[in-house]
Amino acid sequence: MASVVAHYSASALTDRGLKRPSNEDAFGLSVEHGVYVVCDGMGGAAAGEVASTLAVAEVMQWLTQRPRTSPLPIEAAEAIAAANEAIFSRSQRNQKLNGMGTTLVALLVEDRRAWMVNVGDSRGYRLRGSRLEQITLDHSLVEEQIRAGQMSPEEAARSPLKNVITRALGTQSMVTPDIFEFETEPGDLFLLCSDGLVRELDDSLVESLLRLDATLEEMCSRLVEAAKEAGGHDNITCVLVRAES
Ligand code: CA
Repeated sequence: MASVVAHYSASALTDRGLKRPSNEDAFGLSVEHGVYVVCDGMGGAAAGEVASTLAVAEVMQWLTQRPRTSPLPIEAAEAIAAANEAIFSRSQRNQKLNGMGTTLVALLVEDRRAWMVNVGDSRGYRLRGSRLEQITLDHSLVEEQIRAGQMSPEEAARSPLKNVITRALGTQSMVTPDIFEFETEPGDLFLLCSDGLVRELDDSLVESLLRLDATLEEMCSRLVEAAKEAGGHDNITCVLVRAES
């Protein structure tokens, strides 16, 4: 009998890191509804925290507390539009929150079907077998220049523009997420994370930590600890989701 994905399990962890005064990352998850999300907020004062918290709350509310009337990726796009609107209108009403925004990366699963959705430079990865693959494409100035062949990864790492993201939730009246669709296989391990993780750790180190024989909780702790040992310059968030047979 062919092995199939029977259910999913998940774990998540967020950490302020070692340098930032507060944590502007946020995450949400519902194994029951197959919804997992990471947001990384930006903006002065506490605005980044407001934006990421609002985005997670809106998306979770939309996708876990309402009856679904459309296919999941369409519901997800609507949820993101609602989150965008909520952040944008709040920033318009409150001077202190002006210009706030957030990245978003989400994994949505429905039986064997899965979607990753992203805006900004938070990332989604899949470990299948022993190979780690980045599913999402960063909406950042340097990553777009790398993809266009105009910059090398080494130049990007040194660039003063490496923090510039080209899409965010809440900074404009409309936003378009990218959506990646695929089928899951038993044993697949998905990682959603903020840039505070992958700026500190290269993909080969992340891959080796995900290949350890450990619980998802232990893996989350090891990822966060490794990012802190590497400097912990930014807030660090990871959500791990495994397709179980
Ligand atoms: Ca960050």
